[in-house]
Amino acid sequence: MSELHKFLFDGLPVRGSIVRLTDGWTEILRRRASNSEHGGYPEPVRTMLGEMVTAGVLMQSNIKFDGALILQIMGDGPVKLAVVEVQSDFALRATASVMAPVPAHANLSQMVNVTNQGRCAITLDPKVKFPGQQPYQGVVPLFDDQGQPIARLSEVLEHYMLQSEQLDTTLVLAADANVAAGLLIQRLPLQGMGNLSGSMVSKGNEDEIGLNEHYNRIAILASSLKSEELLTLDVDTILRRLFWEEPLTRFEPLLGDAAPRFACSCSRERVARMIVGLGADEAQGILAERPDIEVACEFCGMQYRFDPIDAARLFVDPAQQLAPGTKPH
Ligand SMILES: [Zn+2]
Repeated sequence: MSELHKFLFDGLPVRGSIVRLTDGWTEILRRRASNSEHGGYPEPVRTMLGEMVTAGVLMQSNIKFDGALILQIMGDGPVKLAVVEVQSDFALRATASVMAPVPAHANLSQMVNVTNQGRCAITLDPKVKFPGQQPYQGVVPLFDDQGQPIARLSEVLEHYMLQSEQLDTTLVLAADANVAAGLLIQRLPLQGMGNLSGSMVSKGNEDEIGLNEHYNRIAILASSLKSEELLTLDVDTILRRLFWEEPLTRFEPLLGDAAPRFACSCSRERVARMIVGLGADEAQGILAERPDIEVACEFCGMQYRFDPIDAARLFVDPAQQLAPGTKPH
């Protein structure tokens, strides 16, 4: 069973989340493996994508925001794109495009940052937008301040959180064929700084009472957690082992139906919009070569088919065809 737990360190401006995804993660892998075109993910890609999924859940769990958090890696190597989308209610989906063979023990750089051109983007796409509103997006390279490639996804994201959000963050991430799990520790943001979260502590205050020291101690404890421990131990055991000397306030965990879970938001209507976006000529060009326009959802594997009659109807009166509430046909 998948689960998400949040906690606070009593009296300290430090919070944490821990997630274990089982069914939600294996469902993503199962759908991919059953896709006859791609087949399953090579192991290093599976690990990267699983770590991205857990990181996406952990980040979503720490922002007050109604909409999708989208974590993307735009690669310059054999993996061109990896995308994870986590909604506010923790419905999630993920996919990666593997364009060339991936070495058996490839690290992050060998998959997505071969020439140091890889990028990592985090987008917050609100559910309700005011007219003209663009989603918020931050992008970071996959190299450090000295231009050296970063070997671990957790470091890329820690760097991102510090640079873009002024949030000190420690992440431990791991994934295998059955579990994707992660631990996040974060120093609560300073007052008045422009970042994604609420704020609790003012800068002056903080130095006075030496709060950095507390965060640093907790971050070191968190970093001592090993991948196998994260993947195999239950949440209570992990928290007890790491933080047995630190009083924690734990919140009601999200379990069962409320836990992070796989769900795809694709629909025939969205695919229809995309075909209309291609234009009538392009659609006809496809239909000249094959009996249907076939679109497969990269996230869930669902196949959408539009035969020449369906396609013609889309272009006769797109406004009517795509009006909200129109039944898919
Ligand atoms: Zn889908």
